[in-house]
This record gives sequence, structure tokens and C-alpha cells, in this order.
Amino acid sequence: MAGSGSAVAAAPGDGRALQRLLDELGRLPGIGPKSAQRIAYYLLEADAETARRLADAILRVKEQVHFCPICFNYATREHCDVCDDPTRDRSRICVVSEPRDVQAIERTGSFHGLYHVLGGVISPMDKVGPEQLHVRELLGRLADGTVEEVILATNPDVEGETTATYLSRIIRPLGVEVTRLASGLPVGGDLEYADEVTLGRAIEARRAL
Ligand SMILES: [Zn+2]
Repeated sequence: MAGSGSAVAAAPGDGRALQRLLDELGRLPGIGPKSAQRIAYYLLEADAETARRLADAILRVKEQVHFCPICFNYATREHCDVCDDPTRDRSRICVVSEPRDVQAIERTGSFHGLYHVLGGVISPMDKVGPEQLHVRELLGRLADGTVEEVILATNPDVEGETTATYLSRIIRPLGVEVTRLASGLPVGGDLEYADEVTLGRAIEARRAL
């Protein structure tokens, strides 16, 4: 009889609540042990409402944010804000590897077309080929002739260049212009870390492939 209730009763007093929080925080990207400790002690000292708001925001983002079925950017409604926006230029699609790259390009204010998020890059080392990315869906979007230009905005590193070369080879025969961000971005660097001015210039000065 004691068995069923004891597991639940043991949780608050198992003496590991703080350690569990430290472990979970330590798993987050960019959070080392020291930062994990700082955040954990901040939460311990904060009132219950502050902690509840954070917990609630984390749960809500998992419940309410999904991938846009058109471009695979993050969306909170059926489609993402960009696909839903009637003022966007539908003749241009900017292809990026991750949703965070969409945010980076949006911050520049230099691009007013649509996006397509691949969900990664071609990487034989990690056994990622075109079949693992949203390439088929991209080709589907090019089928009706609305799109005149595809801008390949994968990162300027080996995988990003390989992916851009592959896409250019299969898209050009469809009669769609293919362009690549201008050089000037730090080689090997992530798009998301480029400053807005540099990234904005790279978009404006994009070159034909
Ligand atoms: Zn979308």
C-alpha cells in the first residue's frame, strides 16, 4: 500500500531539486556550469510567480510553435508570418538551412521575398543527403512558375557551399535564376552571427550562380 504514494511524496524532499535544475540548465546551448549556477540561484531567490512565468513560457513554446508547412520556418498559426504576409514578394525565395537564419536575414531588412528552410545542410560525414532535407518541397514550390529567383543563403562553410552547389545544379535547369550571397561574410562563420550591415550587403550584392 505504501508503494503507490511514496514515489510522489519522495519528489519534493529527495534533496536533488537544485541539482536537477543545474543539470537541466547546463544542457542548454551556451550555458556553462557557472551560468547554470547563476540562473539557478537567481530563480531560487526570485518569487514563485517569476519561476512560474518562465516554466510556462517554455511549455507554451513547445505546445504552440510548429513548422510552417510551406517554408518550414517556425509558425504559431497555420502558416508562418512571412508566408502569411500578402506584401511579400512571391517571385523570390531565399533558401536557408535553419529557422534562426530567417531571423538573421529579417533583421537586415534587405530581403522582402519568401523563405525556404532546408532543416540542415548536406553533410556526408553526418549522413545527411538531400533526401533528409526539405529539397523536394522546395522544388514543389518552383513548379508553378511564380518564383523567378532562388537565393542560396546557406552558411559560407564547406557544407553550406556543397549544399548551394547541389541546389544550383538541380534548380537552374528549371529556368529559375539562382543566386548566392556575395562574399564578404566571414568564411566558415554562421550567418546568424554576421552583423546586420554585412549580411544585408551580402544579400543586396548577391551574384548569379
Ligand atoms: Zn512559411
